[in-house]
Amino acid sequence: MKKIEKILQQYSIRPTAMRMLVYQFIQSKTTAVSLSIVENNFEKSDRTTLYRTLKTFEEKGVVHQIDDGTGIPKYALCNHENKSKKHRDLHLHFHCNSCRETVCLTNHQIPQISLPNNFIPEDINMLVKGVCDKCNL
Ligand SMILES: [Zn+2]
Ligand SMILES: [Zn+2]
Repeated sequence: MKKIEKILQQYSIRPTAMRMLVYQFIQSKTTAVSLSIVENNFEKSDRTTLYRTLKTFEEKGVVHQIDDGTGIPKYALCNHENKSKKHRDLHLHFHCNSCRETVCLTNHQIPQISLPNNFIPEDINMLVKGVCDKCNL
């Protein structure tokens, strides 16, 4: 927990007990989590607090939101070198049609794309759908 406290402080987030627990939970997951997954894990906690915790994490760049086409936003930890830098998570995301889980493919960057003249990209979201390695056995 001491380590998580340090991490949150690096993001200029006051490390409350709740925030540290939510961080620990997301960190323990190999797949992206939705608000309801977090809620199910912290049944006794106030939903609004959990929602705000995720929002704070997102604003501060602790997590990034993933739109996996299911209509339910998912969150996953960001891993940046520089914690104070505004985050750009230009890696691919993968949504498995079989287990319905979404994962970050952090080692797979979004390929360079070309746009018509005068178009300025501000955010790129690239999602691959298919069958994940666990389901493809
Ligand atoms: Zn799968
Ligand atoms: Zn990601």
